[in-house]
Amino acid sequence: MNLMLRRPLIAGNWKMYKTVSEAVNTARELVGYAASASVDIMIAPPFTALASVAEIVSGTPVALGAQNLHWKDEGAYTGEISPVMLTDAGCQYVIIGHSERRQFFGETDDTVNAKIRAALAHKLIPVFCVGETEMQRESRETFSVLDKQMVKGLEGVPFNSESHLVVAYEPVWAIGTGKTATTDQIQEVHAFLRSLIDKRLDNPLAKSVRILYGGSVKPENASEIMNMPDVDGALVGGASLSAATFDRIIHF
Ligand code: PEP
Repeated sequence: MNLMLRRPLIAGNWKMYKTVSEAVNTARELVGYAASASVDIMIAPPFTALASVAEIVSGTPVALGAQNLHWKDEGAYTGEISPVMLTDAGCQYVIIGHSERRQFFGETDDTVNAKIRAALAHKLIPVFCVGETEMQRESRETFSVLDKQMVKGLEGVPFNSESHLVVAYEPVWAIGTGKTATTDQIQEVHAFLRSLIDKRLDNPLAKSVRILYGGSVKPENASEIMNMPDVDGALVGGASLSAATFDRIIHF
């Protein structure tokens, strides 16, 4: 990890867990732990808890993220949430293209691309998720799948000096399964993604793009994963739901 250019980011994806009061309590506990951490920290509660959690984390080292967004600012899109609404609620980050959204909610490379553009236009930092399925890995398609997701996801995305991007490599077979990719597998993919980013973003900003690993990260494996040279942080699902457990990861 290049600490000069990329401060590590540990992000917690709370998925469809926690009522407002549960989210507020967990966030409050986490803020206490976060004071002594030397990494950037983000949590992504469900939409219903964003505004309340924003009040807890405001002015602390914990940043707020959302788990999804629509690419339009407003309109007749029942059930959707716009980037304007997310920034208004206090979000700085937004997770885009999580495999659960690709798998269960029809997210495609095209919608991911539209969402990344919308997020950047509203100064939200996209946490752009990519990853292969178990079948794709077994049929040796990992790199072609990732290449396509990256190229399509970043197509025409304008980067300027104010743009920030986070990429999260999340092998689908490692999410919520307890199976973690080996550190060799992680490093190999992260180095590949870094080379794609360097090619795609032919400017110094490429060096500041953080590449997180996600997939059954827990206190027991966080340090080993975080110490790989091309790993700049982690996107954590299940183990982020308890502040005490997440604390052991942010203090890896
Ligand atoms: C995730 O949801 O992004 C994730 C990596 O989940 P888990 O840590 O539970 O595998």
